[in-house]
Amino acid sequence: MTHQSAPLDTLRRVFGYPSFRGPQEQIIEHMIGGGDALVLMPTGGGKSLCYQIPALIRKGVGVVVSPLIALMQDQVDALLQAGVYAAFLNSSQDFATASEIERRLRMDELDLIYVAPERLLTERFLGLMDYLHDKQRLALFAIDEAHCVSQWGHDFRPEYIQLSALHQRYPTVPRIALTATADHLTQREIISRLGLDMARVFISSFDRPNIRYTVVERDNPRRQLLDFLSAYRTAAGIVYCLSRKKVDETAAWLNQQGITALPYHAGLDAAVRLKHQQRFLREDGIVMVATIAFGMGIDKPDVRFVAHLDLPKSLEAYYQETGRAGRDGEPAEAWMTYGLNDVVIHRLRIDESVAGDEQKRVERSKLDALLAWCETVACRRALLLKYFSEEAGACGNCDTCLDPPELWDGTVAAQKAMSAALRTGQRFGAGHLIDILRGKATEKVQQFGHDELPTFAAGTDLDDAGWRSVFRQLLAAGLLHADAQAYGALRLTDAARPVLKGETALSLRKPAARFHGKKSTPSARRSSAGSELAAIDAPLFDALRAWRTELAREQGVPTYVILHDKTLRELTARRPATLNDLLGVPGIGQAKAERYGEALLRLMA
Ligand code: ADP
Ligand code: ZN
Repeated sequence: MTHQSAPLDTLRRVFGYPSFRGPQEQIIEHMIGGGDALVLMPTGGGKSLCYQIPALIRKGVGVVVSPLIALMQDQVDALLQAGVYAAFLNSSQDFATASEIERRLRMDELDLIYVAPERLLTERFLGLMDYLHDKQRLALFAIDEAHCVSQWGHDFRPEYIQLSALHQRYPTVPRIALTATADHLTQREIISRLGLDMARVFISSFDRPNIRYTVVERDNPRRQLLDFLSAYRTAAGIVYCLSRKKVDETAAWLNQQGITALPYHAGLDAAVRLKHQQRFLREDGIVMVATIAFGMGIDKPDVRFVAHLDLPKSLEAYYQETGRAGRDGEPAEAWMTYGLNDVVIHRLRIDESVAGDEQKRVERSKLDALLAWCETVACRRALLLKYFSEEAGACGNCDTCLDPPELWDGTVAAQKAMSAALRTGQRFGAGHLIDILRGKATEKVQQFGHDELPTFAAGTDLDDAGWRSVFRQLLAAGLLHADAQAYGALRLTDAARPVLKGETALSLRKPAARFHGKKSTPSARRSSAGSELAAIDAPLFDALRAWRTELAREQGVPTYVILHDKTLRELTARRPATLNDLLGVPGIGQAKAERYGEALLRLMA
């Protein structure tokens, strides 16, 4: 007999992982001891084990409240694969199925039960819990996606507010609330609304070190996207677009390019949406092209990239959307194209919205933070973490660290750009002003006599993209303002005066490729994400994947529920020859070794 703690033993035997991550062990010990906890951990940090293991070790059943009905099935399937007695109760089931699960609960046959909040609060389920409580068979309550209690967030669920009733009714049953939301306001709200004042708070760093951040200046977005995707021929990923139309067009176009892409947005039939989501979860290597309607609660661990073709709404939104990549801890990429239009569109969107002044002020400051992040020449990760009040040094895994952008003295260019705006009465957008600066006598330029202006052809030293970059940075920095009342005409702000008068100099970021003929570095990227595979036995990896796909289809579960990519890679590298060797591979616990061991050994023989 070995001297392992009960949690570590469970981690190894059931889940097949060698050691705990971050604060997992502390949290688990705290729960086993009967304490309440609030766990703030980024996506992919490993929150589930924090309640699953205590539920296995404590007497009775762990009740998990989760708002995401679509996800319960997959979570339960994954537990069943690991040999855990788990089930869920939600509105998608028929009466007979639900009754059978209730019977198993009463008979003490379950370790974990996943319940939708509205179900949990029914008299019927409360009665069942009263019964279990009398028998001392309520192991714990886990409240997943606890930020749903926040009325100010995007995922507010009214039923979550009533979950404080759990504490009043069963004061001795330990509760654990979990969220990946990084902002402090929401955290405080969770504590007060769920009555967790006495709970111990476990805060992890919100850094996602395996995600590489890259922002490219939009030039030819489709070609840029294709270039980016070329490193990911067999990987699953998400491409976010702002509009439904763009989603449909981009998905169709990717399919023409031989990439399996599916559209997802709120304008599609619910049945189509569900089908696309299922295919994304269940098949390997699908690209989901989507609006932000897609993604909440997608806990597919092997999403290798999240690409944004349009600017997200805020840094919070960006962090959340990109956080869907790389949950498995393997290298992943967050990539975004960004351009002048983004800045104009978002500024106008806020100005034109019907929101109150205070709301607009908040939205403007969020947009400013996001734009500053896009334009930064410092480490993107450090800046992102700073936004969430975390200090960090340069990361070495973002575009600005890997390929530091250069600055140039843009004072004169800025003066030319502003004077073009001034001399045309501040009535035009960037496109027309650039034509003037570059000396293009277009019809519009001639019609207004703008070819007579001293600024006409004053900027032939930069090309269109160079000027767009200047205008974009002036807008982002708030020196120019896009006027909502005048169809986005550019006006100078008060902040522009010192630059215009030459009292302050202005440093601008050099557009990457154009100025030093350097391409963004797909080779550096490839080495991070795709190509470790080249070093290992690709035919064996493919054979394992094909075997897994077949099994997943037979069982009607996502492929990662059978085994993770990471586990397949380990298998390929180690080529275990015995069942005992198999058990040493991360991700293979006892149940999986028994179930799949022989087949795996045969494949690797
Ligand atoms: P979260 O809910 O925090 O987003 P999950 O609980 O889904 O994260 O875990 C993310 C991934 O990390 C899962 O694939 C899980 O199996 C894996 N994982 C969690 N804890 C460990 C660990 N201690 N060792 C190895 N892998 C782990
Ligand atoms: Zn960095």
